[in-house]
Amino acid sequence: MSLNKKYLTKEQSDRLKKNATAASVSLAVGLCLLKAFGALYTGSLAVLSSMIDSVTDIFASSVTVIAVRFSSLPESYYYRYGYGKAESLSALLQSAFIAGSGIFILYDGINRLFHPRPIEQTTVGLIIMGVSLFATLALISYQRYVTRMTESQAISADSAHYMVDVMTNLSIIISLIVVSVFNISWFDTLTALGVSGYLLFNAYKIAGDAVKTLMDAELDDDIRRNIKKIVMECPFSKGIHDLRTRDLGGRYMFEFHLELDGELSLAAAHDMTELVEDNLQDEYPNSVIIIHQDPVGIKEERLDNKIRKPIKKS
Ligand SMILES: [Zn+2]
Repeated sequence: MSLNKKYLTKEQSDRLKKNATAASVSLAVGLCLLKAFGALYTGSLAVLSSMIDSVTDIFASSVTVIAVRFSSLPESYYYRYGYGKAESLSALLQSAFIAGSGIFILYDGINRLFHPRPIEQTTVGLIIMGVSLFATLALISYQRYVTRMTESQAISADSAHYMVDVMTNLSIIISLIVVSVFNISWFDTLTALGVSGYLLFNAYKIAGDAVKTLMDAELDDDIRRNIKKIVMECPFSKGIHDLRTRDLGGRYMFEFHLELDGELSLAAAHDMTELVEDNLQDEYPNSVIIIHQDPVGIKEERLDNKIRKPIKKS
């Protein structure tokens, strides 16, 4: 968890995310128009295929816009945990787009080994490629900033998807130079292999993070340790067990059993629990916390006893 997140309110974070999605859709639309003009002007197939790529960018970024809008909605009658996981769904979809591009580039690269493509080179085509490369890099660095501030899975995936454009454009430019200067025709295939490997790896990482959130994976051990520490710092806490943590999509949820003196009145136990909850909220604002009280020493079936500890990699 980044430190910055704590200092952003939900409104600030939602606004940043919305700005980032607006920027990415505007860029995709702008580049699409530029490439449409370029394709008409030059009749270049490369510019045309690059324009088609921008059309899919518009589609992919629109998915992110919808996901970010959804995730900022408050809890509702039917969705009482809120809509935060919409971002993970969108990230999962983006990872499929990225993996698809990776496979296509691999196929195309191998194909070109057997059927070398005449490389067309127009000044207008190169200028368009350069402009789109720099604009996309600017967008990616803005998205990285927003992701760092908000930890948004949807924006992070959208950004990874724009890396596809940067990588393919860069590899086209590098191949143009290498193939024309050194006349190594298989270099094209080599870069395609590298680019597709990079994309598939990224798609795997993004999908992994999204699936973790969607499947309620346990949060980092650091967070678990910190929760236990905060709970046990209260002088009346006799113990904590069956702690479960998860990411609801932008905010955390914790549940656990708090062990208290069994002779306490319900009102006293309630006040103590409230205090524990307040201390946790100070550290993890906006989190959802459910505390079940146990009289210390009670015999019961516990989740902690059912779970085998993972073997730590050293
Ligand atoms: Zn218990």
